[in-house]
Amino acid sequence: MKAVVYRGPRDVSVENVPDPKIERPTDVIVQIRSTNICGSDLHMFEGRTDFEAGKVFGHENLGQVKEVGPAVERLEVGDWVCMPFNVSCGHCRNCEKGLTAYCLNANEPGLAGGAYGFADMGPWQGGQAEYLRVPWADFNCLKLPPDAEEKQNDYVMVADIFPTGWHATRLAGLCPGDAVVIYGCGPVGLMAAHSAMIQGACKVMVVDRHPDRLKLAKSIGAIAIDDSKGDPVQQVLDETHGKGADVGCECVGYQCHDPAGKEVPNSTMNNLVRSVKFTGGIGVVGVFIPQDPGAADKLAKKGEIVFDWGMCWFKGQHIGTGQCNVKAYNRQLRDLIHAGRAKPSFIVSHELALDQAPDAYKHFDSRDRGWTKVILKAGG
Ligand SMILES: [Zn+2]
Ligand SMILES: [Zn+2]
Repeated sequence: MKAVVYRGPRDVSVENVPDPKIERPTDVIVQIRSTNICGSDLHMFEGRTDFEAGKVFGHENLGQVKEVGPAVERLEVGDWVCMPFNVSCGHCRNCEKGLTAYCLNANEPGLAGGAYGFADMGPWQGGQAEYLRVPWADFNCLKLPPDAEEKQNDYVMVADIFPTGWHATRLAGLCPGDAVVIYGCGPVGLMAAHSAMIQGACKVMVVDRHPDRLKLAKSIGAIAIDDSKGDPVQQVLDETHGKGADVGCECVGYQCHDPAGKEVPNSTMNNLVRSVKFTGGIGVVGVFIPQDPGAADKLAKKGEIVFDWGMCWFKGQHIGTGQCNVKAYNRQLRDLIHAGRAKPSFIVSHELALDQAPDAYKHFDSRDRGWTKVILKAGG
């Protein structure tokens, strides 16, 4: 089959690789229909992780069941399914508590959490390919309703970025009527904004500097805050009568940078502390990693930042962090899409064939204007 394979920093190619097979009785093989390129693929693409050459990318996957292992009970050939980016077993201590992003059986011993086509997240190949092996398939496949094919550009967002954006608002403790500030207007930031709107936020402020992304935020009723035109914290305070937002979301991660492009790894976290009110909450879903050998900053190489802990403590803020437990939200978000109450595909800028992936990675990585979210159509 054809697959998008990592070859080294800024080098991906579409290659023929062996088809995945049923390896355990609880597996299914899914024929991929839609698979996204994600911002977190870019950390790997840039060589800023220890992703191994030869691995297949792709953790945001939707398709149709092609082959079913003998122990799978609730899936049939032809079912349309969307897989959480988390690979999880369903029966370990963390999965049983709903913390599927920290499954104890989907990674090497001593590490928690698995994902398809991801650095340090277990042996699982990605779905930017024609076929994908899905382990513990009864647990990991979300069945889609009859409008699956027609709305696949919406449903594929349920694999990662829609629940991840939603998770940012839940970690922050958003309540109806709250004002929220979201740092980062990439796909996850836009999904956090969409989620906050659905949950009844009174004001959604999104901080970024890319005009095309800010325009998308405005198109769903958010307030665009351009940090290349002035201190974003002051702009948030001006929007909130000087008190700050009730809650804030970090949707950028460890490669956050200033408007000139220089990486300043502590900027979003410290700006959040200053932008969020006394006793407010902060949800951090942007990716931070324990080691970043490619960082320019000495502390960042060790995964550390200079954090304004004193002000955070003084303001009595609380912070929630980490990857999204997609299964905590994916049924509900699927049903919001089915009912027409959510439409996450508003961020899609490109639908391309799998063969066009190398070019798409370059454009998306350069944050070229208009390249907001790419869906690869694997065929069929
Ligand atoms: Zn993703
Ligand atoms: Zn588990």
